[in-house]
Amino acid sequence: MTPLAEALRAAGVGEVVDERTARERYGRDGSHLLGRPAAAVRPRGPDDLVRLVGWARAHRVPIVARGAGSSLDGESVPPDGAVVVDFSGWAGPPEIDVRNRSAWVDPGVVNRELDRALRPHGLFYPPNPGSWTVSTLGGNVATNAAGPRSFKYGSTRDWVLELEAVLGTGERIRVGGATRKRSVGPDLRALLVGSEGTLGLVTRIRVRLALRPRRRAALVVPLPPEARLGAVAEAIARWPGERVSAIEYLDRISADALAAEARGRVPSGSAVVLVELESATEEEETALLASVADRLRALGVPGDPLVEPDADELWTLRGRSGPALDGRLGERIREDVAVPIDRIDALRESIDAIARRHGLEVAVFGHVGDGNLHPNFAIDPAGPAAASVRAELLASARALGGTISAEHGVGRLKRDHLPLELDAPSLALLRGLKRLCDPDGILNPGALLPDEPTAAPGADSGAGGSPSGGRGGRSRRASPTVRRGPRAAGHRRRRS
Ligand SMILES: Cc1cc2nc3c(=O)[nH]c(=O)nc-3n(C[C@H](O)[C@H](O)[C@H](O)COP(=O)(O)OP(=O)(O)OC[C@H]3O[C@@H](n4cnc5c(N)ncnc54)[C@H](O)[C@@H]3O)c2cc1C
Repeated sequence: MTPLAEALRAAGVGEVVDERTARERYGRDGSHLLGRPAAAVRPRGPDDLVRLVGWARAHRVPIVARGAGSSLDGESVPPDGAVVVDFSGWAGPPEIDVRNRSAWVDPGVVNRELDRALRPHGLFYPPNPGSWTVSTLGGNVATNAAGPRSFKYGSTRDWVLELEAVLGTGERIRVGGATRKRSVGPDLRALLVGSEGTLGLVTRIRVRLALRPRRRAALVVPLPPEARLGAVAEAIARWPGERVSAIEYLDRISADALAAEARGRVPSGSAVVLVELESATEEEETALLASVADRLRALGVPGDPLVEPDADELWTLRGRSGPALDGRLGERIREDVAVPIDRIDALRESIDAIARRHGLEVAVFGHVGDGNLHPNFAIDPAGPAAASVRAELLASARALGGTISAEHGVGRLKRDHLPLELDAPSLALLRGLKRLCDPDGILNPGALLPDEPTAAPGADSGAGGSPSGGRGGRSRRASPTVRRGPRAAGHRRRRS
């Protein structure tokens, strides 16, 4: 046990994990970045967190919350010397309130486990990220995660009613409430959603629930090369009656990669659109499937689409689109941008143009109904050209009226690009809020907010330090960036 781990244990902050184990288990997320935490803790409840925050403030040690560590931009990669707060074991059974269609959920509960608990009650929690088999509700809240069904139902923020959290001041807060409607000033609940563990540590979440449709089926539609993705997506998105709940896209490379593990569920050899349809009866479902297929034929998409009766299984499979590309593309940039749906073809073209300019292979999949694409550029993400590729992509999404992050968050990899989306007064407001909630800058420093003064967009940041090898390609160390100078050795005394 290191002196820091001993000090944490003495502070009574839950189970303490030593440095070696912490580095093995918590140094990475789904990005190429690598951090070297000094320890990790597994809190038993909010009181442990209050003590941890007090201890970390006194010793100026960064704290990084962690659910499943599945984020893709370094959101959960700890800076060197940080203490990781592992929420994955904080996962009691959800308290389901059937009459009010809501549930209190612990932050470590895995998204699909929540769905399993809700199924017998005829309810469901709509945001279903591709990572729903592993990602936690705490991580979903902190990144404002979304998924295929966000086309109809929206993102995590739309389904969180109330939150309990421990701020970086050590204070416990409860924001939001039990009712869907609230008109009591600015919405602090919404502020915590998407804050990537930089304002507070979320300890309890009251989610809103939807009535589970009686039937869900999905169409798997191969696209001929001449079909315009935008026209197809828009036509399905305008389908009347709120019956379409998801519109997903795989380009030919992504479809080929997924087909290899799809046991016939996804065809290879062409791009594919996947459409989920909700209905009440078998007859309604059959008629709906037939009329959508007819409409697609009228749009120049010939042939009979495949019908997938188990839409949940299809989304679990679709969530593997990224990992399925590992063999073909290897180390790569995995991006997440969105534009208004009428500009999806323009975004697709600009992705291809960037790939051509840099001589790269690119695979693209995503939630096309939301105008949200995930281009995967086959390039060493730690290499010098990767920053230009990312900068060009994010700038083109903004130029098309879109966003630099649709659902994954900002993390360490995109924080220097934040000025593309937030003007200077808005950024200053965000910094002010950060100072109020986290006066010592101990909560996930180096994520989300760019360092002051704002760096020019273009260079990957928060990934300073030297490449240190890993996962077949190079990994970059996530450098500590607590604004007022954290000390890696947490047992040292605070300067007076
Ligand atoms: C194969 C794959 C598919 C994916 N598909 C999608 C997708 O379709 N949609 C999507 O939105 N994302 C997707 N993701 C990204 C990722 O899974 C999501 O961002 C997810 O919400 C992260 O959850 P997590 O539990 O892994 O959080 P982590 O990665 O552990 O943490 C994410 C962020 O949340 C913070 N955090 C975690 N717990 C707490 C807490 N209790 N309090 C405060 N802050 C906390 C962390 O500090 C970090 O900033 C995918 C990732 C993979 C690997």
